[in-house]
Amino acid sequence: MNALETLRDLGVDPKKSLGQNFMTEPAALRRMLDAAEIEPDDVVLEIGPGLGALTDLLAERARRVVAVEIDGRFVPYLRGRYASMPHVEIVLGDILEIDIGHILGADADRYKVAANLPYYITSPILRHLLEGAHPPSLLVVTVQWEVAQRITAAPGAMGLLSVGVQFYGSATIAGKLKPGNFTPAPNVDSAIVQIEAHPDGPPLTGDARDQFFRIARAGFSQPRKQLRNSLAAGLHLAPGDVVDWLGTAGIDPRRRAETLSIDDWLAVYQAAEGRIASLNP
Ligand code: SAM
Repeated sequence: MNALETLRDLGVDPKKSLGQNFMTEPAALRRMLDAAEIEPDDVVLEIGPGLGALTDLLAERARRVVAVEIDGRFVPYLRGRYASMPHVEIVLGDILEIDIGHILGADADRYKVAANLPYYITSPILRHLLEGAHPPSLLVVTVQWEVAQRITAAPGAMGLLSVGVQFYGSATIAGKLKPGNFTPAPNVDSAIVQIEAHPDGPPLTGDARDQFFRIARAGFSQPRKQLRNSLAAGLHLAPGDVVDWLGTAGIDPRRRAETLSIDDWLAVYQAAEGRIASLNP
């Protein structure tokens, strides 16, 4: 049965508001699976299994698949589909509200994410996973093409999204997908993005990480301005003090935020000591 027939059978109309564009092209599904590099001992968290097209493939390879679906209309169907596969669990819920540690238990320390994401919440989902207490070791996600370019941008075209993701891992585009790979077809091209977490974890955690992002946010608050102006405005500092600060960091104050690499931002953060109020005085 194809996706349209299954939907008809279930009496379900896809909800645009939940990003329900089902991946129906076998080659696209296969590319996602290949990018996820599933080993027999892997645990995979899938977000939004929908009708189970990707879940089927993950179930063939992984030791355990936990699939979180917000739309209760699919859950009885999915639970029936995997009734004979105890290593596949279907969880009804909103991924943004779910405690990963709770649903994965001991596996929360090492798992992968594979998901054809609902595009309306791509950034919140990435933040929820990467910034949470249990970040995955690898994420393979389908996102809108433009968003994929923003996630994987290099210095010269960086934005808060690329800094926010590349702080946690290296991000690459593993393939471009056309609207016709999905049913119903979305209005946009898509991309499979692979995010591999830094093996030693993110460079900063806790308050230090929050301070790092406070500085980066200030830098991007007026993206067309030079850093000396955007940081001064965003952090309520005198431009002269910012010039001095950036000099200590080895960063030309006339540069724009989009030109800085993660290492450049780390240098700016390191040199900030004592220059800006701490988050938790
Ligand atoms: N995995 C299926 C596929 O590839 O064909 C469906 C992908 S579809 C783009 C997105 C799926 O995410 C839908 O099944 C939708 O109901 C689900 N979804 C949307 N928002 C969600 C959320 N907050 N938490 C969990 N699932 C969500």
